[in-house]
Amino acid sequence: MRTFHTTTGLADSNFMSREHIQTEPGCGDPFAAEALSIEAAARCIEAGMVPIRDREEVPLRDALGRILAEDVLSPINVPSHVNSAVDGYAMRSADLPSRGSANLTLIGTAWAGRPCGETVQPGQCIRIMTGAKMPDGTDTVVMQEHAERTEAGIRVGEGHRPGQNVRLAGEDLAAGHPAAGAGKKITPAALGLLASLGIPRVAVTRRLRVAFFATGDELRSIGEPLGDGEIYDSNRYTLYGMLAHLGVDQLDLGVVADTPEAIRGAFNQAADRADVIITTGGVSVGEADYVKEVITDLGEVTFGKIAIKPGRPLAFGRVGRSLFFGLPGNPVAVMVTFYQLVQPALRRMMGETRTSPARFEARCLSRLKKRPGRTEFQRGRLTVDADGRVAVSKTGAQGSGILSSMSAADCFIVLPPESGTVEPGDTVWVEPFEGIA
Ligand code: AMP
Ligand code: MG
Repeated sequence: MRTFHTTTGLADSNFMSREHIQTEPGCGDPFAAEALSIEAAARCIEAGMVPIRDREEVPLRDALGRILAEDVLSPINVPSHVNSAVDGYAMRSADLPSRGSANLTLIGTAWAGRPCGETVQPGQCIRIMTGAKMPDGTDTVVMQEHAERTEAGIRVGEGHRPGQNVRLAGEDLAAGHPAAGAGKKITPAALGLLASLGIPRVAVTRRLRVAFFATGDELRSIGEPLGDGEIYDSNRYTLYGMLAHLGVDQLDLGVVADTPEAIRGAFNQAADRADVIITTGGVSVGEADYVKEVITDLGEVTFGKIAIKPGRPLAFGRVGRSLFFGLPGNPVAVMVTFYQLVQPALRRMMGETRTSPARFEARCLSRLKKRPGRTEFQRGRLTVDADGRVAVSKTGAQGSGILSSMSAADCFIVLPPESGTVEPGDTVWVEPFEGIA
Protein backbone atom coordinates (compact mmCIF):
# COMPACT_ATOMS: atom_id res chain seq x y z
CA MET A 1 0.00 0.00 0.00
CA ARG A 2 1.21 3.52 -0.70
CA THR A 3 0.97 5.55 2.46
CA PHE A 4 2.03 9.01 3.44
CA HIS A 5 3.68 9.78 6.70
CA THR A 6 4.88 13.28 6.09
CA THR A 7 3.84 15.97 8.52
CA THR A 8 4.34 18.77 6.04
CA GLY A 9 1.25 20.85 5.47
CA LEU A 10 -0.44 20.90 2.11
CA ALA A 11 -0.32 23.88 -0.20
CA ASP A 12 -3.13 26.36 0.45
CA SER A 13 -4.09 26.46 -3.19
CA ASN A 14 -5.38 22.91 -2.95
CA PHE A 15 -8.14 23.59 -0.52
CA MET A 16 -11.58 24.96 -0.85
CA SER A 17 -12.21 28.38 0.47
CA ARG A 18 -15.49 29.55 1.94
CA GLU A 19 -16.45 31.16 -1.36
CA HIS A 20 -16.43 27.69 -2.88
CA ILE A 21 -19.10 26.31 -0.59
CA GLN A 22 -22.20 27.37 -2.40
CA THR A 23 -25.59 26.94 -0.91
CA GLU A 24 -27.60 24.07 -2.32
CA PRO A 25 -31.16 23.69 -1.11
CA GLY A 26 -30.88 21.29 1.84
CA CYS A 27 -27.17 21.91 2.28
CA GLY A 28 -25.94 23.50 5.45
CA ASP A 29 -27.92 21.65 8.10
CA PRO A 30 -26.35 18.36 9.13
CA PHE A 31 -29.12 17.68 11.62
CA ALA A 32 -32.02 18.42 9.26
CA ALA A 33 -34.89 15.95 9.44
CA GLU A 34 -35.26 15.98 5.66
CA ALA A 35 -32.89 13.71 3.71
CA LEU A 36 -31.14 15.20 0.67
CA SER A 37 -31.63 13.54 -2.73
CA ILE A 38 -28.52 11.85 -4.11
CA GLU A 39 -28.41 14.40 -6.93
CA ALA A 40 -28.52 17.35 -4.49
CA ALA A 41 -25.86 15.66 -2.34
CA ALA A 42 -23.63 15.26 -5.41
CA ARG A 43 -24.10 18.97 -6.20
CA CYS A 44 -23.18 19.96 -2.61
CA ILE A 45 -20.05 17.84 -2.84
CA GLU A 46 -19.14 19.31 -6.22
CA ALA A 47 -19.57 22.81 -4.82
CA GLY A 48 -17.37 22.04 -1.80
CA MET A 49 -14.61 20.26 -3.70
CA VAL A 50 -11.56 21.89 -5.27
CA PRO A 51 -9.37 20.00 -7.73
CA ILE A 52 -5.74 19.74 -6.68
CA ARG A 53 -3.39 21.66 -8.92
CA ASP A 54 -0.05 20.14 -7.97
CA ARG A 55 1.47 18.08 -10.71
CA GLU A 56 4.49 15.88 -11.16
CA GLU A 57 6.40 14.50 -14.11
CA VAL A 58 6.68 10.73 -14.15
CA PRO A 59 8.26 8.15 -16.45
CA LEU A 60 5.68 6.85 -18.91
CA ARG A 61 5.04 3.46 -17.24
CA ASP A 62 4.42 5.12 -13.86
CA ALA A 63 1.66 7.20 -15.46
CA LEU A 64 -0.66 4.17 -15.75
CA GLY A 65 -3.88 4.95 -13.88
CA ARG A 66 -2.85 8.56 -13.24
CA ILE A 67 -4.58 11.68 -14.61
CA LEU A 68 -2.88 13.75 -17.31
CA ALA A 69 -2.20 17.29 -16.09
CA GLU A 70 -1.82 18.84 -19.55
CA ASP A 71 -2.70 18.22 -23.18
CA VAL A 72 -0.20 16.10 -25.09
CA LEU A 73 0.30 17.05 -28.75
CA SER A 74 1.84 14.56 -31.09
CA PRO A 75 5.44 15.56 -31.89
CA ILE A 76 5.51 13.24 -34.93
CA ASN A 77 3.32 11.58 -37.52
CA VAL A 78 2.14 8.12 -36.48
CA PRO A 79 2.88 6.13 -38.53
CA SER A 80 5.86 8.15 -39.66
CA HIS A 81 5.88 6.75 -43.21
CA VAL A 82 3.43 5.44 -45.80
CA ASN A 83 3.44 1.65 -45.34
CA SER A 84 1.75 -1.58 -46.28
CA ALA A 85 -1.18 -2.88 -44.21
CA VAL A 86 -0.72 -6.47 -45.44
CA ASP A 87 1.82 -8.97 -46.72
CA GLY A 88 1.68 -8.82 -50.54
CA TYR A 89 2.99 -6.95 -53.58
CA ALA A 90 3.45 -3.20 -53.94
CA MET A 91 2.82 -1.72 -57.38
CA ARG A 92 1.66 1.30 -59.35
CA SER A 93 -2.14 1.58 -59.41
CA ALA A 94 -1.91 2.36 -63.14
CA ASP A 95 -0.78 -1.26 -63.62
CA LEU A 96 -3.99 -2.73 -62.12
CA PRO A 97 -5.95 -4.38 -64.94
CA SER A 98 -9.48 -3.06 -65.45
CA ARG A 99 -10.35 -6.37 -67.15
CA GLY A 100 -8.63 -9.74 -67.32
CA SER A 101 -5.21 -9.93 -65.66
CA ALA A 102 -1.79 -8.29 -65.77
CA ASN A 103 1.70 -9.76 -65.37
CA LEU A 104 4.22 -7.81 -63.30
CA THR A 105 7.93 -8.39 -62.86
CA LEU A 106 9.25 -8.79 -59.32
CA ILE A 107 12.29 -6.56 -58.74
CA GLY A 108 12.89 -6.67 -54.98
CA THR A 109 11.61 -7.09 -51.39
CA ALA A 110 10.62 -4.53 -48.74
CA TRP A 111 10.67 -5.61 -45.07
CA ALA A 112 9.29 -3.80 -42.05
CA GLY A 113 12.22 -1.67 -40.89
CA ARG A 114 14.26 -2.52 -44.01
CA PRO A 115 12.99 -0.44 -46.95
CA CYS A 116 13.64 -1.49 -50.55
CA GLY A 117 15.87 1.03 -52.37
CA GLU A 118 14.40 0.32 -55.83
CA THR A 119 12.10 2.70 -57.70
CA VAL A 120 9.27 0.78 -59.31
CA GLN A 121 8.74 1.36 -63.03
CA PRO A 122 5.58 0.51 -65.04
CA GLY A 123 5.07 -3.26 -65.21
CA GLN A 124 7.12 -3.94 -62.05
CA CYS A 125 6.26 -4.85 -58.45
CA ILE A 126 7.95 -5.45 -55.10
CA ARG A 127 7.31 -8.14 -52.53
CA ILE A 128 6.26 -6.23 -49.38
CA MET A 129 5.66 -7.19 -45.70
CA THR A 130 3.15 -5.61 -43.31
CA GLY A 131 4.51 -2.32 -41.93
CA ALA A 132 7.22 -1.98 -44.60
CA LYS A 133 7.70 1.45 -46.16
CA MET A 134 6.03 1.75 -49.56
CA PRO A 135 8.78 1.72 -52.23
CA ASP A 136 9.19 4.78 -54.47
CA GLY A 137 6.79 4.71 -57.40
CA THR A 138 4.20 2.46 -55.68
CA ASP A 139 0.82 3.43 -54.23
CA THR A 140 -1.13 0.17 -54.05
CA VAL A 141 -0.67 -3.28 -52.45
CA VAL A 142 -2.26 -6.52 -53.62
CA MET A 143 -2.54 -9.11 -50.85
CA GLN A 144 -0.40 -12.15 -51.39
CA GLU A 145 -3.50 -14.37 -51.30
CA HIS A 146 -4.90 -12.41 -54.29
CA ALA A 147 -1.81 -12.68 -56.49
CA GLU A 148 -0.63 -15.68 -58.47
CA ARG A 149 3.14 -16.30 -58.56
CA THR A 150 4.68 -16.60 -62.02
CA GLU A 151 8.25 -17.36 -63.00
CA ALA A 152 9.22 -13.68 -63.34
CA GLY A 153 6.84 -12.18 -60.83
CA ILE A 154 3.07 -12.20 -60.28
CA ARG A 155 -0.22 -12.23 -62.13
CA VAL A 156 -2.93 -9.90 -60.78
CA GLY A 157 -6.62 -10.17 -61.64
CA GLU A 158 -9.32 -7.50 -61.79
CA GLY A 159 -11.38 -5.97 -59.00
CA HIS A 160 -8.63 -4.16 -57.10
CA ARG A 161 -8.90 -0.57 -55.95
CA PRO A 162 -6.10 2.00 -56.50
CA GLY A 163 -4.47 2.87 -53.16
CA GLN A 164 -5.75 -0.24 -51.40
CA ASN A 165 -3.99 -1.82 -48.39
CA VAL A 166 -1.83 1.24 -47.79
CA ARG A 167 -1.57 3.02 -44.43
CA LEU A 168 -0.91 6.74 -44.76
CA ALA A 169 1.68 8.67 -42.74
CA GLY A 170 -0.03 10.35 -39.76
CA GLU A 171 -3.30 8.45 -40.23
CA ASP A 172 -3.30 7.39 -36.56
CA LEU A 173 -2.04 10.75 -35.28
CA ALA A 174 -0.80 13.70 -37.33
CA ALA A 175 2.11 15.77 -36.00
CA GLY A 176 0.84 18.70 -33.89
CA HIS A 177 -2.58 17.14 -33.25
CA PRO A 178 -3.87 16.34 -29.73
CA ALA A 179 -3.01 12.79 -28.68
CA ALA A 180 -4.51 12.94 -25.17
CA GLY A 181 -6.17 15.77 -23.26
CA ALA A 182 -5.65 17.08 -19.72
CA GLY A 183 -7.95 15.23 -17.32
CA LYS A 184 -7.69 11.93 -19.15
CA LYS A 185 -6.96 8.83 -17.11
CA ILE A 186 -3.99 6.95 -18.54
CA THR A 187 -5.28 3.55 -19.63
CA PRO A 188 -3.19 0.77 -21.19
CA ALA A 189 -4.26 2.10 -24.63
CA ALA A 190 -3.22 5.66 -23.76
CA LEU A 191 0.12 4.33 -22.47
CA GLY A 192 0.69 2.62 -25.82
CA LEU A 193 -0.41 5.71 -27.76
CA LEU A 194 2.04 7.93 -25.85
CA ALA A 195 4.78 5.34 -26.39
CA SER A 196 4.04 5.40 -30.14
CA LEU A 197 4.86 9.12 -30.04
CA GLY A 198 8.22 8.44 -28.42
CA ILE A 199 7.25 10.42 -25.29
CA PRO A 200 9.33 9.27 -22.28
CA ARG A 201 7.72 11.28 -19.43
CA VAL A 202 4.33 12.90 -18.85
CA ALA A 203 2.89 15.44 -16.39
CA VAL A 204 0.18 14.00 -14.14
CA THR A 205 -1.66 15.44 -11.14
CA ARG A 206 -0.15 14.42 -7.81
CA ARG A 207 -1.74 11.57 -5.93
CA LEU A 208 -4.54 12.55 -3.60
CA ARG A 209 -3.83 11.95 0.11
CA VAL A 210 -6.72 10.23 1.82
CA ALA A 211 -6.83 9.46 5.56
CA PHE A 212 -9.47 7.16 7.01
CA PHE A 213 -10.55 5.44 10.19
CA ALA A 214 -13.36 3.24 11.41
CA THR A 215 -15.33 4.00 14.58
CA GLY A 216 -17.01 1.45 16.80
CA ASP A 217 -16.37 -0.07 20.22
CA GLU A 218 -17.54 -3.43 18.86
CA LEU A 219 -14.79 -3.59 16.23
CA ARG A 220 -11.79 -5.88 16.54
CA SER A 221 -8.87 -6.13 14.16
CA ILE A 222 -7.81 -9.31 12.42
CA GLY A 223 -5.58 -11.33 14.74
CA GLU A 224 -7.48 -10.35 17.88
CA PRO A 225 -9.95 -12.77 19.48
CA LEU A 226 -13.62 -11.79 19.25
CA GLY A 227 -15.27 -11.03 22.59
CA ASP A 228 -18.98 -11.19 23.32
CA GLY A 229 -20.91 -8.95 20.90
CA GLU A 230 -17.81 -8.02 18.92
CA ILE A 231 -17.20 -8.20 15.16
CA TYR A 232 -14.19 -7.91 12.90
CA ASP A 233 -13.72 -4.56 11.25
CA SER A 234 -14.22 -5.00 7.50
CA ASN A 235 -14.78 -1.38 6.43
CA ARG A 236 -11.09 -0.51 6.57
CA TYR A 237 -10.46 -3.35 4.14
CA THR A 238 -13.12 -2.39 1.60
CA LEU A 239 -11.93 1.22 1.89
CA TYR A 240 -8.33 0.14 1.39
CA GLY A 241 -9.37 -1.78 -1.75
CA MET A 242 -11.49 0.99 -3.23
CA LEU A 243 -8.83 3.63 -2.55
CA ALA A 244 -6.06 1.40 -3.91
CA HIS A 245 -8.01 1.09 -7.17
CA LEU A 246 -8.07 4.88 -7.39
CA GLY A 247 -4.31 5.11 -6.91
CA VAL A 248 -4.42 7.55 -3.99
CA ASP A 249 -1.93 7.69 -1.10
CA GLN A 250 -3.57 6.23 1.99
CA LEU A 251 -3.22 6.97 5.68
CA ASP A 252 -5.04 4.29 7.68
CA LEU A 253 -5.65 5.58 11.22
CA GLY A 254 -7.12 2.29 12.43
CA VAL A 255 -10.15 1.65 14.60
CA VAL A 256 -11.15 4.53 16.86
CA ALA A 257 -13.24 4.16 20.03
CA ASP A 258 -16.74 5.61 20.27
CA THR A 259 -15.79 8.61 22.42
CA PRO A 260 -15.72 12.27 21.35
CA GLU A 261 -12.11 12.52 22.63
CA ALA A 262 -10.81 9.59 20.58
CA ILE A 263 -12.63 10.77 17.46
CA ARG A 264 -11.35 14.31 17.94
CA GLY A 265 -7.80 12.96 18.32
CA ALA A 266 -8.06 11.00 15.08
CA PHE A 267 -9.37 14.03 13.17
CA ASN A 268 -6.58 16.19 14.52
CA GLN A 269 -4.04 13.63 13.35
CA ALA A 270 -5.48 13.60 9.85
CA ALA A 271 -6.46 17.24 9.28
CA ASP A 272 -3.95 19.30 7.31
CA ARG A 273 -2.09 16.16 6.25
CA ALA A 274 -4.84 14.73 4.10
CA ASP A 275 -6.78 16.22 1.22
CA VAL A 276 -9.70 14.05 2.26
CA ILE A 277 -10.71 12.33 5.51
CA ILE A 278 -13.12 9.40 5.39
CA THR A 279 -14.69 7.81 8.45
CA THR A 280 -17.08 4.89 8.82
CA GLY A 281 -19.74 4.48 11.50
CA GLY A 282 -20.96 6.84 14.17
CA VAL A 283 -22.86 9.24 11.88
CA SER A 284 -26.36 7.97 12.62
CA VAL A 285 -28.66 8.93 15.49
CA GLY A 286 -27.50 6.37 18.07
CA GLU A 287 -26.25 7.26 21.54
CA ALA A 288 -22.65 6.48 20.55
CA ASP A 289 -22.67 8.38 17.24
CA TYR A 290 -20.29 11.27 17.87
CA VAL A 291 -18.68 11.89 14.48
CA LYS A 292 -21.00 14.68 13.29
CA GLU A 293 -20.83 16.50 16.63
CA VAL A 294 -17.05 16.42 16.70
CA ILE A 295 -16.80 17.65 13.11
CA THR A 296 -19.37 20.38 13.67
CA ASP A 297 -17.11 21.53 16.48
CA LEU A 298 -13.80 21.20 14.63
CA GLY A 299 -14.97 22.22 11.17
CA GLU A 300 -18.20 22.25 9.27
CA VAL A 301 -20.78 19.68 8.22
CA THR A 302 -22.76 20.51 5.11
CA PHE A 303 -25.28 17.68 5.17
CA GLY A 304 -25.91 14.59 7.24
CA LYS A 305 -28.60 12.49 5.65
CA ILE A 306 -29.38 11.44 2.09
CA ALA A 307 -32.37 9.69 0.54
CA ILE A 308 -30.65 6.51 -0.61
CA LYS A 309 -30.69 2.90 0.48
CA PRO A 310 -28.42 1.62 1.78
CA GLY A 311 -26.54 4.61 3.16
CA ARG A 312 -29.05 7.08 4.57
CA PRO A 313 -26.73 8.52 7.25
CA LEU A 314 -23.92 10.17 5.32
CA ALA A 315 -22.14 13.30 6.45
CA PHE A 316 -20.15 15.67 4.27
CA GLY A 317 -18.18 18.76 5.19
CA ARG A 318 -14.66 19.78 6.01
CA VAL A 319 -12.28 19.78 8.91
CA GLY A 320 -9.31 22.10 8.84
CA ARG A 321 -8.18 22.04 5.24
CA SER A 322 -9.46 18.57 4.51
CA LEU A 323 -12.68 17.52 2.85
CA PHE A 324 -14.66 15.17 5.07
CA PHE A 325 -16.91 12.21 4.25
CA GLY A 326 -18.58 10.49 7.20
CA LEU A 327 -19.79 7.19 5.77
CA PRO A 328 -22.30 4.95 7.55
CA GLY A 329 -21.10 1.91 9.50
CA ASN A 330 -22.94 -0.83 7.67
CA PRO A 331 -20.49 -2.51 5.30
CA VAL A 332 -22.65 -2.44 2.15
CA ALA A 333 -23.67 1.15 2.85
CA VAL A 334 -19.98 2.09 3.03
CA MET A 335 -19.34 0.69 -0.41
CA VAL A 336 -22.50 2.12 -2.00
CA THR A 337 -21.91 5.64 -0.67
CA PHE A 338 -18.22 5.47 -1.56
CA TYR A 339 -18.85 4.42 -5.16
CA GLN A 340 -21.79 6.76 -5.68
CA LEU A 341 -20.55 9.94 -4.00
CA VAL A 342 -16.97 9.74 -2.71
CA GLN A 343 -15.24 8.12 -5.68
CA PRO A 344 -16.52 10.63 -8.28
CA ALA A 345 -15.39 13.49 -6.01
CA LEU A 346 -11.91 11.99 -5.50
CA ARG A 347 -11.53 11.45 -9.24
CA ARG A 348 -12.61 15.02 -9.98
CA MET A 349 -10.18 16.30 -7.31
CA MET A 350 -7.39 14.49 -9.15
CA GLY A 351 -8.42 16.35 -12.30
CA GLU A 352 -10.23 13.55 -14.09
CA THR A 353 -12.88 14.93 -16.42
CA ARG A 354 -14.87 11.80 -17.29
CA THR A 355 -16.23 10.41 -14.06
CA SER A 356 -19.82 9.30 -14.65
CA PRO A 357 -20.25 5.53 -14.64
CA ALA A 358 -21.74 3.53 -17.50
CA ARG A 359 -25.43 2.88 -16.89
CA PHE A 360 -27.69 0.79 -19.13
CA GLU A 361 -30.98 -1.07 -19.11
CA ALA A 362 -31.36 -4.76 -18.30
CA ARG A 363 -34.25 -7.15 -17.84
CA CYS A 364 -34.57 -8.03 -14.19
CA LEU A 365 -35.00 -11.74 -13.47
CA SER A 366 -35.64 -11.32 -9.73
CA ARG A 367 -38.38 -9.74 -7.66
CA LEU A 368 -36.90 -6.67 -5.93
CA LYS A 369 -38.84 -5.44 -2.95
CA LYS A 370 -38.87 -1.65 -2.70
CA ARG A 371 -40.95 1.16 -1.28
CA PRO A 372 -41.06 4.50 -3.15
CA GLY A 373 -39.09 7.37 -1.60
CA ARG A 374 -35.38 6.64 -1.83
CA THR A 375 -32.90 5.82 -4.60
CA GLU A 376 -31.91 2.20 -4.01
CA PHE A 377 -28.72 0.46 -5.02
CA GLN A 378 -29.39 -3.25 -4.96
CA ARG A 379 -26.66 -5.69 -5.91
CA GLY A 380 -26.87 -7.83 -9.03
CA ARG A 381 -25.17 -10.17 -11.44
CA LEU A 382 -25.35 -9.60 -15.17
CA THR A 383 -26.08 -12.36 -17.69
CA VAL A 384 -26.85 -12.39 -21.40
CA ASP A 385 -29.91 -14.41 -22.40
CA ALA A 386 -30.24 -16.62 -25.51
CA ASP A 387 -31.42 -13.63 -27.58
CA GLY A 388 -28.35 -11.62 -26.63
CA ARG A 389 -30.27 -9.32 -24.27
CA VAL A 390 -28.72 -8.27 -20.97
CA ALA A 391 -30.45 -9.58 -17.86
CA VAL A 392 -29.73 -9.11 -14.18
CA SER A 393 -30.49 -11.11 -11.02
CA LYS A 394 -30.13 -9.99 -7.44
CA THR A 395 -27.39 -11.51 -5.31
CA GLY A 396 -29.39 -12.81 -2.37
CA ALA A 397 -30.56 -10.86 0.67
CA GLN A 398 -30.06 -7.12 0.23
CA GLY A 399 -29.62 -5.88 3.82
CA SER A 400 -27.11 -3.07 4.32
CA GLY A 401 -24.92 -5.28 6.50
CA ILE A 402 -24.83 -8.26 4.11
CA LEU A 403 -21.44 -7.84 2.46
CA SER A 404 -21.76 -11.19 0.64
CA SER A 405 -24.45 -9.53 -1.55
CA MET A 406 -21.78 -7.08 -2.68
CA SER A 407 -18.97 -9.59 -3.02
CA ALA A 408 -21.12 -11.82 -5.27
CA ALA A 409 -22.24 -8.87 -7.41
CA ASP A 410 -20.81 -7.42 -10.59
CA CYS A 411 -23.21 -4.47 -10.85
CA PHE A 412 -25.54 -2.15 -9.00
CA ILE A 413 -29.23 -2.30 -9.84
CA VAL A 414 -30.26 1.36 -9.59
CA LEU A 415 -33.89 1.93 -8.61
CA PRO A 416 -35.05 5.58 -8.71
CA PRO A 417 -36.97 7.13 -5.78
CA GLU A 418 -40.38 6.82 -7.44
CA SER A 419 -39.94 3.12 -8.23
CA GLY A 420 -41.87 0.56 -6.19
CA THR A 421 -41.32 -3.21 -6.14
CA VAL A 422 -39.78 -4.60 -9.33
CA GLU A 423 -41.34 -7.78 -10.75
CA PRO A 424 -39.43 -10.38 -12.80
CA GLY A 425 -39.40 -9.24 -16.45
CA ASP A 426 -39.36 -5.51 -15.61
CA THR A 427 -36.62 -3.33 -17.06
CA VAL A 428 -34.15 -1.78 -14.60
CA TRP A 429 -31.02 0.38 -14.76
CA VAL A 430 -27.71 -1.33 -14.02
CA GLU A 431 -24.24 0.06 -13.39
CA PRO A 432 -21.43 -2.45 -14.00
CA PHE A 433 -18.64 -2.41 -11.43
CA GLU A 434 -15.89 -2.80 -14.02
CA GLY A 435 -15.39 -2.29 -17.71
CA ILE A 436 -12.68 -3.93 -19.78
CA ALA A 437 -10.03 -1.25 -19.16
P1 AMP B 1 -23.02 2.65 13.15
O1 AMP B 1 -23.29 3.50 11.95
O2 AMP B 1 -21.78 3.00 13.85
O3 AMP B 1 -24.22 2.61 14.05
O4 AMP B 1 -22.85 1.14 12.60
C1 AMP B 1 -23.88 0.51 11.89
C2 AMP B 1 -23.60 -0.97 11.79
O5 AMP B 1 -22.42 -1.19 11.04
C3 AMP B 1 -23.40 -1.67 13.13
O6 AMP B 1 -24.00 -2.93 13.05
C4 AMP B 1 -21.89 -1.79 13.22
O7 AMP B 1 -21.50 -2.86 14.04
C5 AMP B 1 -21.50 -2.02 11.80
N1 AMP B 1 -20.14 -1.54 11.55
C6 AMP B 1 -19.68 -0.30 11.87
N2 AMP B 1 -18.39 -0.19 11.54
C7 AMP B 1 -18.01 -1.37 11.00
C8 AMP B 1 -16.78 -1.86 10.47
N3 AMP B 1 -15.70 -1.09 10.43
N4 AMP B 1 -16.75 -3.14 10.00
C9 AMP B 1 -17.88 -3.88 10.02
N5 AMP B 1 -19.05 -3.48 10.50
C10 AMP B 1 -19.14 -2.23 11.00
MG1 MG C 1 -21.00 2.63 15.66
